Amino acid sequence: MLSAKTALVTGSTSGIGLGIAIALAQHGARVMLNGFGDVEGALAQVRRFDPKTLHDGADMSRPEQIEAMIRRCEAELGGCDILVNNAGIQHVAPIPEFPVERWDAILAINLSSAFHAMRAALPGMQRRNWGRIVNVASVHGLVASTNKSAYVAAKHGIVGLTKVAALENATTGITVNAICPGWVLTPLVQKQVDARAAAEHVDNDQAKRELLAEKQPSLQFTTPEQLAALVVFLCSPGADNIRGAAINVDGGWIAQ
Ligand code: NAD
Repeated sequence: MLSAKTALVTGSTSGIGLGIAIALAQHGARVMLNGFGDVEGALAQVRRFDPKTLHDGADMSRPEQIEAMIRRCEAELGGCDILVNNAGIQHVAPIPEFPVERWDAILAINLSSAFHAMRAALPGMQRRNWGRIVNVASVHGLVASTNKSAYVAAKHGIVGLTKVAALENATTGITVNAICPGWVLTPLVQKQVDARAAAEHVDNDQAKRELLAEKQPSLQFTTPEQLAALVVFLCSPGADNIRGAAINVDGGWIAQ
């Protein structure tokens, strides 16, 4: 379905981004990965479907590196038709104790990076009159939780940014949407499970059950595969007129 398309997924060496990159490659897209950590492991997983998958190590807190990555994607893959802005980090603390450096990093990586990537990728999409931008926001783009000031601010920001970009391209073949997962069991959330287990002197499974019970009525984690299936759908012709949406995949979290 996506065999003539090229895709860049930021933060795709782990978790949700890796799941999305695998699914896009499975559906025929040429893929560029980005992110830190186990780059070789991630490349091996995606190369099962796109043997020529590339990786770019751009730091998503650095605008000039983001622009260079988009240019490289265009030069080496032949374009950047699908842009998934997924890279993200978390820090949990009440506002008076929130480190300024963490605030700045979360705003840069979870919000500003999407602006810089879209700014660089949109002209090419506009020339080809086709593009798909999917911003991985969160339920925290729609509702708040305590102790997550920077994350909630960044995710609300990216939902707003998604709407602006969708409207600016509304008469074109470029759609821009946000997806808003609830809890997904990735390294980002495992840290929060570990913190809960330590604070409450419970085991890992009990901490996971409590985390889910607090917010996610299905009591099931959303999976990277479920989110990836949604991204593939958003890249399909059936989604041509879905524009500026923020789609929650959250086991009922924000229905409450
Ligand atoms: P993860 O920690 O498994 O993956 C994060 C990815 O981002 C990794 O590939 C990491 O290398 C990359 N990354 C981090 N900082 C970077 C930087 N400066 N430059 C380039 N890459 C960087 O986390 P995840 O849970 O898969 O999160 C992915 C996205 O999904 C994030 O935007 C997160 O906010 C969002 N999200 C996650 C959940 C959840 O429950 N896990 C829920 C809602 C939204």
